[in-house]
Amino acid sequence: MTRTVYVNGAYVPENEATVSIFDRGFLMADGVYEVTSVLGGKLIDFAGHAIRLERSLSELDMAQPCDMDELLKIHRELVRVNEIDEGLVYLQITRGSDGDRDFLFPDPETTKPTIVLFTQDKPGLADSPAAKKGAKIISIEDIRWGRRDIKTVQLLYPSMGKMMAKKVGCDDAWLVEDGMVTEGTSNNAYIVKGNTIITRQLSNDILHGITRAAVLRMAKEAQMQVEERSFTIVEAQEADEAFTTSASAFVMPVVEIDGVALGDGKPGNIAKRLREIYLEESLKAAV
Ligand code: PMP
Repeated sequence: MTRTVYVNGAYVPENEATVSIFDRGFLMADGVYEVTSVLGGKLIDFAGHAIRLERSLSELDMAQPCDMDELLKIHRELVRVNEIDEGLVYLQITRGSDGDRDFLFPDPETTKPTIVLFTQDKPGLADSPAAKKGAKIISIEDIRWGRRDIKTVQLLYPSMGKMMAKKVGCDDAWLVEDGMVTEGTSNNAYIVKGNTIITRQLSNDILHGITRAAVLRMAKEAQMQVEERSFTIVEAQEADEAFTTSASAFVMPVVEIDGVALGDGKPGNIAKRLREIYLEESLKAAV
């Protein structure tokens, strides 16, 4: 089945979708994105992603191409026509193209944003073998820009980080700045000590994960303690457990950091429990 995608108001087969070579997303990484997961054909935490998208656009003085009700309709239509049961909806909005290349932003009155959405079919997303095994992590220096709270499409360094991990037989990288872990290449990072979950406090240094917000709320409801503070790689290596969260991988246990196994080297009980709670509660609230 040919995938149907959405581009600037039209639903088209993926091989007929086009964007200008002058688009600022392509030339300048001048764009933002969101990834919403789909379980049982329904969207997980759409409202959270929509609110963060509005904030990303407003922080970059970028126009919103359509309202959030319309955006929800497009997400649902793509899930329907592409028959997605488990998978993802990727959304990208860029500052568009004024038909040339210039560092200065084009006039928003005459240059409209580009909006693109497509689905990714991922059968078995919830029952993932990777989550049963747990992830092996390396640490690398965080050399990204200083506004990581804005979800821009500047993903070159996170891609390089994942490649560095792959090269040494690992699954992902945690980023370290001034000796403290900021986050994972595409996820928020956590350690567990006893009944306490520790994750870096929100600031411009990290993306404000939609899954992070939900998991911390659910952890508190399940009588777990939550501490929002920075931690080092050494503290993580000495922790009982570690895990990451993201919309596309939910709660992912971490079993090794820079070659040091955590606990017994298997996914920890709190991470496993949080994954179960998150999937259960999110499915109930899916739209
Ligand atoms: N941090 C970074 C750098 C990310 O790329 C992501 C995933 N987009 C996250 C955290 C997790 O955010 P969310 O739970 O909203 O997917």
